[in-house]
This record gives sequence, structure tokens and C-alpha cells, in this order.
Amino acid sequence: MSLLIPRDSRVRSRIAIVRVDLHINRSFHYLVPEELREQVMAGTRVQISFGRRKVLGTVLEVSETLDGLEVAADALKPILEVVGASGLITPAVLQLAKWMADYYLCPLDLALKSVAPAVVQKKGKMRAVRSRRDPELEMAVTEASTLTSSEPPPLMAQQEAVLSRMFEWLDADSSQEKKPVLLHGITGSGKTEVYLQVIARALEQGKGAIMLVPEISLTPQTVERLRARFAPLDKPEPNAGTGSKPEGGILAVLHSGLSQGERFREWQRIREGKARLVVGARSAIFAPVMNLGVIVVDEEHEHSYKQEEHPRYHARDVAVMRGHFEKALVILGSATPALESYHNAIKGKYHLCRMPERVDGRHLPKIRIIDMRQETLRQKGFAIFSEPLKSGIQLRLERGEQVILYLNRRGYSSSMLCPKCGFVATCPHCSVSLSYHRQAGTLQCHFCGYAAKAFNVCPQAECRDPSIRFAGMGTEKLEEAVSRAFPTARVARMDSDTMTRRDAYERTLLRFRMGKIDILLGTQMIAKGLDFPRVTLVGIVFADLGLHFPDFRSGERTFQQIVQVAGRAGRGDVEGEVVVQTFTPQHPVMKHIRKQDYEGFYQEEIGFRSALQYPPCCRITKIECASEQSSRAQYVIQQLHKLLLQRLGPSIRVLGPSPSPIEKVRGRYRHHLILWDTRKKEHRGILQEIFASLPRDGEVKVFPDVDPIQML
Ligand code: ADP
Ligand code: ZN
Repeated sequence: MSLLIPRDSRVRSRIAIVRVDLHINRSFHYLVPEELREQVMAGTRVQISFGRRKVLGTVLEVSETLDGLEVAADALKPILEVVGASGLITPAVLQLAKWMADYYLCPLDLALKSVAPAVVQKKGKMRAVRSRRDPELEMAVTEASTLTSSEPPPLMAQQEAVLSRMFEWLDADSSQEKKPVLLHGITGSGKTEVYLQVIARALEQGKGAIMLVPEISLTPQTVERLRARFAPLDKPEPNAGTGSKPEGGILAVLHSGLSQGERFREWQRIREGKARLVVGARSAIFAPVMNLGVIVVDEEHEHSYKQEEHPRYHARDVAVMRGHFEKALVILGSATPALESYHNAIKGKYHLCRMPERVDGRHLPKIRIIDMRQETLRQKGFAIFSEPLKSGIQLRLERGEQVILYLNRRGYSSSMLCPKCGFVATCPHCSVSLSYHRQAGTLQCHFCGYAAKAFNVCPQAECRDPSIRFAGMGTEKLEEAVSRAFPTARVARMDSDTMTRRDAYERTLLRFRMGKIDILLGTQMIAKGLDFPRVTLVGIVFADLGLHFPDFRSGERTFQQIVQVAGRAGRGDVEGEVVVQTFTPQHPVMKHIRKQDYEGFYQEEIGFRSALQYPPCCRITKIECASEQSSRAQYVIQQLHKLLLQRLGPSIRVLGPSPSPIEKVRGRYRHHLILWDTRKKEHRGILQEIFASLPRDGEVKVFPDVDPIQML
């Protein structure tokens, strides 16, 4: 490659602004060599020399010439080579990364890192590692897919009405009409069919589509329906098809089971326009789809859309921005929308579409709230099953119907304590108690994964009492209780302890669908999007579990989880029933759960939020400092607090600093403070300056969390 640049002013140099992959918060100019002209554009990954090193970087901009800089051009170093296929970060996604860096208060190189999978960023050679095949699973999947029709059903009136509005917005040009849509449809109202038809129209128009789901492995039915509908549009590559392999054809499913090489290939297929429909979890929002027509965010209230690592972006909000930048229609769908989204719809920032009825005139299940305090009295002691739940299960077993039991805590017991000396087993790395896992014979931390052998006697040297006990119930204990109470029932447990193999989940669901399981019990794994017509009873074993956390969203989360699980009942011809067991039946949330009244819940909850100035009535930003020594984290957050007050003045409201409710996690002590109204331009500018100036590799880590979800 020639390093000589002709100084003839008629030959203009092409200059790239490159952000290097070093923790340096600025960009540098490089020369684009003649032979790379075609390939280097905004978003291209390149290798360059930096000092004496060769490093990688991302091109932010390419310009024909820098005015007045022709002379300097020959002082510039050339780009050495293009890494990977060019343009896997599209200009639109690059714009998104810049927005993220700005909004989520993070350096641009970190934002760039999160918009493309590592394999697209790096240089290495890709080997297409074949995923392992599992003949039994493939057979089962083939069997299941025959149950999924590829033909659209005749639409219900509410679906027609919603679709005709959405088609209009899809075809519209003005950004007012193209604003995001919130589709609030109750469980089983046929939302997925609406998504499929809007996507179909976008594809017919030659445009692309992205559909986000909370977790791809936990939404097999949704993916199956997309496959059935869209995979035939294009011939799949030979050997492609079931299981965890890439699809070929117009559909790209980005799931965590893809090997590096497969992932890279899928990105290329998307960038080349061969795959125009992309389905995936959070990070699929950055897929290099060109000419994007529609983005669907299914179950938009799910917290898994929030990334809990810096940059702490929310894929739903990123989707809204991407739609805005690319003039694509964004559809957010849920039976229990996030308060933020519903608030936006009420204010007119989003279109609001409702589907208040279930498909085929089916009814929502009846919900009964059971007061477990009364049950404890009646049954003379703590009981896992109330009478109504017990007789309900019995009835379903006799009728050959199916039951789902929900308990959002895994393990056997949530703590191990000594009644004599008061010892409680806690994690050495986190300030939480350890859960007892009976099968494994261990005490485990659900925060960091620490595990130790369980004790037979109190471990305190001066105590050694053998009557050490386990308190609080998890799914393992529930399974044992179910098997004891219903010895003939076929029971399966679904939580992250039993679903360790990637296909275990799919396999269990298939067995459930085929009627080989009577009672399915589990954690939130069973709460998402499952559609089984023979489930007629859902039991919420301990509804209070998440209700009393020191988190302003604990009521909202409880409402969402219970209404979602309840929605699994009564999807067939037989009406469904839901039994909610609670020790706090008087809690306001329970009243709305009983009536499955989202609107009523929203009205009451928004009153609380507005009084306390919590989101969505106000924007907040959490700033967290973490260190192996509590005092250091505390010192840094106090310094930061002072600095914030100095720079922002009394105009900004601050809560804290204080230790986080769960102070220690993974051996690091955390202190945080919360800032209100960080959206104001002048505030953001100052915050960015402050964060840009923080050292990134010190022992005390400082993270901003804009619009935080995790408050503990
Ligand atoms: P939601 O996503 O709102 O919970 P789904 O889209 O899963 O609801 O629909 C529930 C069930 O109703 C699915 O089995 C789906 O195939 C079926 N369904 C959807 N629309 C129709 C329709 N117009 N006619 C008949 N069945 C439908
Ligand atoms: Zn721990």
C-alpha cells in the first residue's frame, strides 16, 4: 500500500473519523486508502496504527476532504485494513449508538461495543461451528410445528380495527402519524396475530422488520408462529430447519445458542438484505436491517429489556429511538404495559390501541383471592395449599385438565437459621441469606451463585445445635408438597435448576402440550406467553413474595406477574380459574388483580407515583459506586455528591447518598444516590462532563443508571 499522498489539490483525499477501541474519549483522523474507498463508511470496523500499536476502531464519519486540511492529509496515517464484512454497523445504528452514549451517559466506545456482537467487532477468523443436533428434540419440534398453522385465521373485529389503523400508520410519512403505538390487549386477545400481519405487510413492501421478545428461549411458541408464517416465503438452506441452527431464508432468529460463526453469518445475511425479518432478545434491536419498516416489542413491560451493565440501556426505549431515526413504525405490545408506556399513550406521545376481548369469545379466568391468614388459622398452622387451591387441583386431575402453579423463588428454602442462637447462613460475598437446595445438598446465593455444603448442625462453634431449620419456601419444596398431596399426578418443575440444558425447557413444554404432564410448577419461566388450551387452573402459591421490596415498582411488578400468569388459564373451550394465595389480601394491588383491571391499577398507581415524583411522572437517574471496601465506595459517592451539588446547584433534587438496600453484591459494597430530572439539557451536559472525566479503571467503579429498573 502506498503511503504517498499526491498533493495535487484536484485529487481530494478521503478522510475517516475513527473511534479507537481504547478507553480514550475522543476520535482521530485517518486517511482512507484508494483501494478501501468502497468499503470504508460510517460504521465500518477498521484496523489502524495508533502510536506503535495496531488497534481496532469504528469509523464514525467519512468526508471527502477536510476543508483547509489538505496540507495535513499527508501527515495522516492510513487505515490499514477493513475488519470483517463492511457495514455491519449501519449508519442508522451508528446514530443510535451516539444517541445511547449521550442519553445513557456512557463513553461512545462502550455504546459502540454494545451495538454489535463481539464477533462482528473483532478480527479473528470465524469457524462455523455446527450446533449439536438432538434427534429426539428435532422430532418433537417437527411434531409440534404441525400444530402451528401457517395460514392467517379470519380476523376478529378488534384485530381488524387495530390492523387497519396500524396499516395506515405504517404507510404514513409524517412523524406525527408514525409515532409509536402501544397495543394494550388482554392475555389471549390475539396480539401476536396483529404483529404477524403488520410484519407481513412491511415485508411485502420490500421493507425489513425487527421483533423483540423478552428472552428467545422462553418464548418458543412465538418464534414457532413466526417460522410457520414466514419461513416458507423463501426457501430455507438445505439442512436448516429445526432446533438451534440458523434459519436461512427471510427469517433470522438471533438466539444465544448460535455459535460465533453462525452469529456472524446471520448478521451478514441481514446486512445483505437476504434476511429481512429479525427476531431476538434485547440486542437484536441493533441488527443491521436496512430500510426498516416496523419494530415490534412484544411484552414491552418485561424487565429483561433493560441491560444491567453499562451502558444500561432499555431496548424498548432504544427501539422507539431507532423507529424515530429510520421512520419505522414501533409497536409496543402488552396485556400489562409498563406504567411509563401507558403514561406516554395517555399523554398522546404514543398511539393507543386496545383489544379488550379474548379470541373466540372466551372469557378471562375468574380470579379468587385467598386470605392465607384465615387458612393458617383454619388449618392450624402454615399450609402450602389453601382448601380452594387443593380442591381445585383435585378437580382438574379428575377431569383430565391441566394446572400451572407459580412460585417465583427457586430452591427448597430461602434461608437456613438456628432457632437456638439465631444464626442465619448468609453469603460471604453478598448481603443476602443463602437458599437451601435440597437435591444438591447445598446452600446457594441467588445473587452471585456462591454454593457451599449445607449444615446438619449450627456451624457456630459455641452452639452446634442440631435443630437448625429452613425457613421460606421455594419451588423445590413446592414440588415435594405437590407430589405428596397428589401422589398420582404427573408433575414437572421448571426453574433454572431443572432447566440447565438448553433444550430442557422446550422439551418440558412439549410434554406438557402433549398432555404428558398434569401439573407444571415453576418460577417466572412459566409466566411468559405460553398458550396451552387445556390449562384451566392457575395457582399463585405465594403472591406476596415480591410485594414488600423497598422498590417503588414492587406493586407494579406484582400486578404484572400475577395477571400474566393468570392469563395462562382458560385459553381453550373450558373456562379458567385462578387462585391467588396471599397474606395481604387488603393490599390495593390485590383489589385490581381480582378484577384484572389494568386501567384501575394504573389510575391508583399513577397517583402514588405523582405524589412521590417517581417515574413515569418524573425521570430519575441512579448513580452507583461499588468497591471492595464500603468506606471507599462511600467516600467516592460523597465526593461525587459534592461535585454534583457544586455544578448543578440547588436546582437538582438528590436522594441520598446511602448504602444500596442490598449493600454487598459479589464482594463489592454499593452506595448510591438518585437524581431527579436529569433530562434537562443543562443538567445532562454537566453530567456528561462529570462522567467523562471519571477514571474508568480505578478500584471504585462508578455507574450511572438512567431510568433505572433495578433499585436494590
Ligand atoms: P396474545 O398474544 O394476545 O396473548 P395470542 O396472539 O397468543 O394472544 O392468541 C391467542 C390464541 O388465539 C392463539 O392460539 C392464536 O393462534 C389464536 N388466535 C389469534 N387470532 C385469532 C383469530 N382471529 N381467530 C382464531 N384464533 C385466533
Ligand atoms: Zn452471593
